Amino acid sequence: MPDSFADDNVFLKIVQREVPARILYQDEEVTAFQDANPVAPTHVLVVPNKPLRTLNDATPEDACLLGKMILTAQRLAGQLGIDQSGYRIVVNCNQHGGQTVYHLHLHLLGGRRMTWPPG
Ligand code: AMP
Repeated sequence: MPDSFADDNVFLKIVQREVPARILYQDEEVTAFQDANPVAPTHVLVVPNKPLRTLNDATPEDACLLGKMILTAQRLAGQLGIDQSGYRIVVNCNQHGGQTVYHLHLHLLGGRRMTWPPG
Protein backbone atom coordinates (compact mmCIF):
# COMPACT_ATOMS: atom_id res chain seq x y z
CA MET A 1 0.00 0.00 0.00
CA PRO A 2 1.61 3.29 -1.02
CA ASP A 3 2.14 5.89 1.68
CA SER A 4 -0.06 8.25 -0.28
CA PHE A 5 -3.02 5.82 -0.15
CA ALA A 6 -4.79 7.56 2.71
CA ASP A 7 -4.04 11.02 1.32
CA ASP A 8 -5.25 10.19 -2.19
CA ASN A 9 -8.23 8.12 -1.14
CA VAL A 10 -11.31 10.14 -2.04
CA PHE A 11 -13.70 7.54 -0.60
CA LEU A 12 -11.92 7.66 2.75
CA LYS A 13 -12.33 11.43 2.65
CA ILE A 14 -16.04 10.98 1.96
CA VAL A 15 -16.28 8.59 4.93
CA GLN A 16 -14.56 11.20 7.09
CA ARG A 17 -16.78 13.96 5.67
CA GLU A 18 -13.79 15.85 4.26
CA VAL A 19 -15.13 15.57 0.70
CA PRO A 20 -18.83 16.21 0.02
CA ALA A 21 -21.08 13.39 -1.14
CA ARG A 22 -24.75 12.53 -1.01
CA ILE A 23 -24.51 10.09 1.87
CA LEU A 24 -27.53 7.81 2.21
CA TYR A 25 -26.35 5.76 5.17
CA GLN A 26 -23.43 5.64 7.56
CA ASP A 27 -22.60 3.72 10.71
CA GLU A 28 -19.38 2.75 12.44
CA GLU A 29 -18.43 0.22 9.74
CA VAL A 30 -19.86 1.23 6.36
CA THR A 31 -20.89 4.31 4.39
CA ALA A 32 -23.22 4.44 1.39
CA PHE A 33 -23.43 7.40 -0.97
CA GLN A 34 -24.62 8.33 -4.45
CA ASP A 35 -22.18 7.71 -7.27
CA ALA A 36 -21.04 11.03 -8.75
CA ASN A 37 -21.34 9.70 -12.32
CA PRO A 38 -24.30 7.32 -12.24
CA VAL A 39 -24.62 4.70 -14.96
CA ALA A 40 -28.15 3.73 -13.90
CA PRO A 41 -31.11 5.63 -12.42
CA THR A 42 -30.09 4.21 -9.05
CA HIS A 43 -26.32 4.03 -8.54
CA VAL A 44 -25.12 3.86 -4.96
CA LEU A 45 -21.67 2.98 -3.65
CA VAL A 46 -21.22 1.10 -0.38
CA VAL A 47 -17.75 1.29 1.15
CA PRO A 48 -16.09 0.07 4.32
CA ASN A 49 -15.09 2.92 6.63
CA LYS A 50 -11.64 1.39 6.99
CA PRO A 51 -9.26 1.61 4.04
CA LEU A 52 -9.07 -1.62 2.05
CA ARG A 53 -7.62 -1.05 -1.42
CA THR A 54 -9.29 -3.90 -3.28
CA LEU A 55 -11.29 -7.06 -2.65
CA ASN A 56 -7.94 -8.86 -2.74
CA ASP A 57 -7.01 -7.13 0.50
CA ALA A 58 -9.99 -8.49 2.43
CA THR A 59 -9.24 -11.35 4.84
CA PRO A 60 -11.45 -13.84 6.69
CA GLU A 61 -11.55 -11.26 9.50
CA ASP A 62 -13.46 -9.03 7.11
CA ALA A 63 -16.22 -11.59 6.51
CA CYS A 64 -18.76 -9.71 8.64
CA LEU A 65 -17.79 -6.41 7.07
CA LEU A 66 -18.30 -7.80 3.55
CA GLY A 67 -21.64 -9.26 4.57
CA LYS A 68 -22.64 -5.95 6.06
CA MET A 69 -21.79 -4.15 2.83
CA ILE A 70 -24.07 -6.50 0.88
CA LEU A 71 -26.89 -6.28 3.43
CA THR A 72 -26.58 -2.48 3.44
CA ALA A 73 -27.02 -2.51 -0.34
CA GLN A 74 -29.98 -4.88 0.01
CA ARG A 75 -31.66 -2.62 2.55
CA LEU A 76 -31.03 0.48 0.46
CA ALA A 77 -32.47 -1.29 -2.58
CA GLY A 78 -35.69 -1.67 -0.62
CA GLN A 79 -35.66 1.92 0.59
CA LEU A 80 -34.98 3.20 -2.92
CA GLY A 81 -37.78 1.08 -4.37
CA ILE A 82 -35.77 -1.16 -6.69
CA ASP A 83 -35.89 -4.40 -4.71
CA GLN A 84 -38.88 -5.84 -6.58
CA SER A 85 -37.90 -4.66 -10.06
CA GLY A 86 -34.40 -5.89 -9.37
CA TYR A 87 -30.86 -4.66 -9.10
CA ARG A 88 -27.24 -5.61 -9.57
CA ILE A 89 -24.36 -5.53 -7.09
CA VAL A 90 -20.90 -5.21 -8.62
CA VAL A 91 -17.41 -5.20 -7.14
CA ASN A 92 -14.67 -4.24 -9.60
CA CYS A 93 -11.19 -5.46 -8.72
CA ASN A 94 -7.98 -4.05 -10.19
CA GLN A 95 -7.35 -3.11 -13.80
CA HIS A 96 -9.14 -5.88 -15.68
CA GLY A 97 -12.08 -5.59 -13.32
CA GLY A 98 -12.42 -1.92 -14.17
CA GLN A 99 -11.53 -0.57 -10.73
CA THR A 100 -10.68 3.13 -10.82
CA VAL A 101 -10.93 4.11 -7.15
CA TYR A 102 -8.67 2.08 -4.88
CA HIS A 103 -10.84 1.90 -1.81
CA LEU A 104 -13.00 -1.24 -1.81
CA HIS A 105 -16.59 -0.48 -2.80
CA LEU A 106 -19.64 -2.20 -4.17
CA HIS A 107 -21.95 -0.67 -6.73
CA LEU A 108 -25.70 -0.97 -6.22
CA LEU A 109 -27.27 -0.50 -9.66
CA GLY A 110 -30.95 -0.44 -10.55
CA GLY A 111 -33.83 1.42 -12.07
CA ARG A 112 -33.30 -0.09 -15.51
CA ARG A 113 -32.77 -3.53 -16.99
CA MET A 114 -29.11 -4.58 -16.84
CA THR A 115 -27.43 -6.29 -19.74
CA TRP A 116 -25.46 -9.51 -19.54
CA PRO A 117 -22.65 -10.19 -20.06
CA PRO A 118 -21.16 -6.88 -18.91
CA GLY A 119 -18.75 -5.16 -21.27
P1 AMP B 1 -14.83 1.65 -9.93
O1 AMP B 1 -14.64 1.86 -11.39
O2 AMP B 1 -15.46 0.34 -9.58
O3 AMP B 1 -13.55 1.90 -9.14
O4 AMP B 1 -15.88 2.72 -9.49
C1 AMP B 1 -15.56 3.99 -9.02
C2 AMP B 1 -16.82 4.79 -8.99
O5 AMP B 1 -16.62 5.89 -8.12
C3 AMP B 1 -17.26 5.35 -10.34
O6 AMP B 1 -18.57 4.88 -10.64
C4 AMP B 1 -17.22 6.86 -10.14
O7 AMP B 1 -18.25 7.51 -10.79
C5 AMP B 1 -17.34 6.98 -8.62
N1 AMP B 1 -16.74 8.15 -8.02
C6 AMP B 1 -15.49 8.62 -8.20
N2 AMP B 1 -15.27 9.69 -7.43
C7 AMP B 1 -16.43 9.91 -6.73
C8 AMP B 1 -16.84 10.87 -5.76
N3 AMP B 1 -16.03 11.85 -5.34
N4 AMP B 1 -18.09 10.78 -5.26
C9 AMP B 1 -18.92 9.80 -5.68
N5 AMP B 1 -18.58 8.86 -6.58
C10 AMP B 1 -17.36 8.92 -7.11
